Amino acid sequence: MKPVRLVTLLASLALGSAVAAEPFPGPAPRDADGRFLNRAGPIPQAGPSVTFPFFLRRFGTSVTGREGEPAWLGNDGAFLRENARHSVPTVTWIGHATLLVQMDHVTFLTDPIWSDSPSPIPFLGPERFVAPGMRIEDLPPIDFVLISHDHYDHLDIPTLTELAERHPEARFLVPLGNAELLRSEGIERVEELDWGASTSVGGVEAVSVPVQHWGRRGLFDSRERLWSGWVVRGAERRFYFGGDSGYSRDYRDVGAALGPFDLAALPIGAYEPEAMMRPWHLDPEQAVQAGRELGARRIVPIHYGTFDLSDEPLDEPPRRFRAAAEAAGFAAEDAPVLRVGETLRF
Ligand code: ZN
Ligand code: ZN
Repeated sequence: MKPVRLVTLLASLALGSAVAAEPFPGPAPRDADGRFLNRAGPIPQAGPSVTFPFFLRRFGTSVTGREGEPAWLGNDGAFLRENARHSVPTVTWIGHATLLVQMDHVTFLTDPIWSDSPSPIPFLGPERFVAPGMRIEDLPPIDFVLISHDHYDHLDIPTLTELAERHPEARFLVPLGNAELLRSEGIERVEELDWGASTSVGGVEAVSVPVQHWGRRGLFDSRERLWSGWVVRGAERRFYFGGDSGYSRDYRDVGAALGPFDLAALPIGAYEPEAMMRPWHLDPEQAVQAGRELGARRIVPIHYGTFDLSDEPLDEPPRRFRAAAEAAGFAAEDAPVLRVGETLRF
């Protein structure tokens, strides 16, 4: 289906309603060079006095190793394959930002990565601390795949090509400018969406929504491809995927326009050193705040403990997340720290 502007969609949904829909942010702004911008405008990157010692520390831990990886629970996929066309809504954490979601009779993946290292040069890339929670061959039939942005820990070409071969019907939804990365690898069923655009898959609608982040895969392609969060809305459930994102007003605006949500998957890791990470990655307390602003009934934390990406201890993000969620009044079952491979019904 051709992507439609969300304002059109909201206008049609609002027909018959006395309450006007909130104005929705989109399309994504660009600078004079045509590179994409966040809604907050240009945000400077940390300089070499911060980044150089950081990369030295990352090299050091790749030699010494680190402890505190998340608990792992193998998932053979049997229940999820059986459930694929049924209506028990589930979310399964495969690791990092990779989730398998089933709702409204569709099955989809977010930012799938089964590779050992998210890097163009795998033996130099960040180490994987914990195996994927399910074998790629055990997945149920996939209807679509959501990609948040072009960073290697979110857009993993070896995984995407294998998924396209194993699931020839699957559609790959990417933010504006990312389709060529997949098409050049022979993946044809790709659709690009700008912020505020949506497309229908089965009985649900997927909407690309703004988050504060950036993109780059090479030396000179910074912000040439857009980044986004995703909303998936069906008759029975509403799901929000935060991808990789720093704190901004985007959560409040998306919550007002498209919320509330039955479940929000939000990144909680890669927040240290703060001088480098703060604009781009939520810390656990900010993730809980974002969940509240989205109007999320449940929050599932992602983007921690899987790859060696940042300075904070591996097991710190989930501990701080649980404390912050409890302080914010979320019941334990509404802000669960999942084991890798664990399935939650929602
Ligand atoms: Zn990223
Ligand atoms: Zn990331």
